[in-house]
Amino acid sequence: MFNLFKKIIYMLFVVLSTLHACYVRVLLDSGPVEEMGEKQFVVADKKFLCVFKDTLLSCNGKQLNKNGLRISPKDSKFWYQDTCYSGDLALIVQEKRWYVINNIPLEEYVYSVLRSESWPGWPLEVNKVFAIMVRTYAVHKILAAQSMKKKPLYDIKSTNIHQTYKGLHNFDHLMQAVQETQNIIITYHKRPIIAMYDSCCGGIIPAHISGFDFKSDPYLARPYACEYCSECKLYSWQISFEQTALIELLETEFSGLKHIKDVRVTTDKAGKVTEIEVRTGRSHKKISGATMYRLCKDIRSFCYTIKKEEKIFKFTGKGFGHHMGVCQWGVRAMVKKGFTEKQILDYYYPGTELMKLVKVEPQRSLTSADT
Ligand SMILES: [Zn+2]
Repeated sequence: MFNLFKKIIYMLFVVLSTLHACYVRVLLDSGPVEEMGEKQFVVADKKFLCVFKDTLLSCNGKQLNKNGLRISPKDSKFWYQDTCYSGDLALIVQEKRWYVINNIPLEEYVYSVLRSESWPGWPLEVNKVFAIMVRTYAVHKILAAQSMKKKPLYDIKSTNIHQTYKGLHNFDHLMQAVQETQNIIITYHKRPIIAMYDSCCGGIIPAHISGFDFKSDPYLARPYACEYCSECKLYSWQISFEQTALIELLETEFSGLKHIKDVRVTTDKAGKVTEIEVRTGRSHKKISGATMYRLCKDIRSFCYTIKKEEKIFKFTGKGFGHHMGVCQWGVRAMVKKGFTEKQILDYYYPGTELMKLVKVEPQRSLTSADT
């Protein structure tokens, strides 16, 4: 299937500032120094036990300098909190916070994230599209970090706030998707895009979503509905709450709430919930759609309605995720229908093009001492 890519005429993309993009610095963990406790890292058979006490960071009883702990394992592997990672490791204390950072080659990072942000069992062509998205998102974050006045210690977070990264895995077949798309990214006006994606868009039109500034990222303002994700179970979903369960759910926002007469939902043009009004009979209480999404893990997306039927509150929604960018279930269906990676990405990010990163010789390492 590599031939598909040969048909695409890539323009070379000369990355800004000789690119650190060959490596990505991933934040694995962080917190206030007073709550750091003991942090243990294992490299080969050697343990590194780090603590922060009396304004100083020490490791295995030895005081560390202001650069903290920096390790470049010879076999490129280390363990932290029951997970094995490849690449370099750094524990840094700065401005009363501690940070555990993993410095890893970009392509290895893409391979790792593919395991957690996609369905490894889906066809190769689907995972190739995902690999391009994951790589593009990371490069965008790297360049954003580089452009900041105050240089951050890391480029990207390891949670789904950015992309879920869980270190090494054994799904070796995903490497093919990474290798066959090596260094390929999505660009808009020759800049890497912020390649947002969700699981199933539910047919919501992103351009109609309120509260998002599309001016700087017009490729996210897709003005038509995706027609390819209806096979997903969560294309439309429903959950029900008895009154007591809904009161319990809202407890942290409305203390003393004992009775709900009705619930009214305000949505934007896309169907995204902007506000929920809880009517008790005597008064009205309001919460934002974002707060409701945070309170209830069973709400799968931002677009839904709520109806009271006798004593039951029925939530009926569309899709799984935030409805922006690529719809992963849509990609799966488009691949089945024979669309190419370029066609699929152009469908979800209108006006973009594929380019290839160049100058990817390693530029940077966290290393100050080998183990
Ligand atoms: Zn979709």
